[in-house]
Amino acid sequence: MSPNSVYVATKNLGKLAELRAIFGDHAWVAVSFPGYREVAEGTASYAENAALKARGLRADLASAGICAAVIGDDSGLEVRGLDGRPGILSARYGGDATWAQRRRLLLDELHAAGPVSRAARFVCALHFIAANGTEHCGQAELDGAITETERGDGGFSYDAIFRPLGESRTFAEFSETEKNACSHRSIAVRRLLEAVDAVEAKPRHTGT
Ligand code: IMP
Repeated sequence: MSPNSVYVATKNLGKLAELRAIFGDHAWVAVSFPGYREVAEGTASYAENAALKARGLRADLASAGICAAVIGDDSGLEVRGLDGRPGILSARYGGDATWAQRRRLLLDELHAAGPVSRAARFVCALHFIAANGTEHCGQAELDGAITETERGDGGFSYDAIFRPLGESRTFAEFSETEKNACSHRSIAVRRLLEAVDAVEAKPRHTGT
C-alpha cells in the first residue's frame, strides 16, 4: 500500500472513481475497503454525516487490524424551487428507486411545482482522519440549475440534470477532467488539503 493511500468510506462507485481521479492530482491514492459497512446517516448536516462515515470506516479497518488514513464524503443536491430538497436526503430521494427514476422524479416534481426557481447547488463535505487519528474537514458548494430534460451519459447520479452556473452543458456532458476541474468535490478536496497542510506545516514544539 502506498504511504499516501486513503481509504474511502463509500459504496458509491461514481463517487469513488471521482475521488480517485481528484486525489491523483494531489498525490493521494484512494482505495476502497470491501468490509466497509454503511453507517446510518442523520439529517443534521453533511459534515456530521461525513464524520460518521469516516469514523465508521476507521472502526471497520481497526477490526481487520488495519491502521490507515480514511475519508468520508457526504454530498447532496439542493434545489431552490423544492425548498432545498432532496438535499441531505439525496441518496434516499424517491426511496428504493433507480437513478433514472430519481432524476425523472425530480424533473416531474419541479414541473408540478409550476413557475418556481430551477436554481440548485451541489454540496460536498469531506471528513479526513489521518492514521494517527487527527481529523480535518473540507466543504464546498457549487451553484447551477436543474435542466428541463436529462442530457448526457457521463458522470453519475444527478449529473445528467445539473448544469453548473454559466454552462449550457450538464455535468454528464462534461469530460471527467472538466468536471473534476470545477466540481464541489474537487473544491472540497482542495480545502481539505489546505486544512491538512496548515496543521502539518506548523513547527512542532520541542519543549526547549
Ligand atoms: P451520500 O453522500 O452518499 O449520502 O449521497 C449523496 C447523493 O448525492 C448521492 O446519491 C450522490 O450520488 C449524489 N451526488 C453527490 N455528488 C454528486 C455529483 O457530483 N454528481 C451527481 N450526484 C451526486
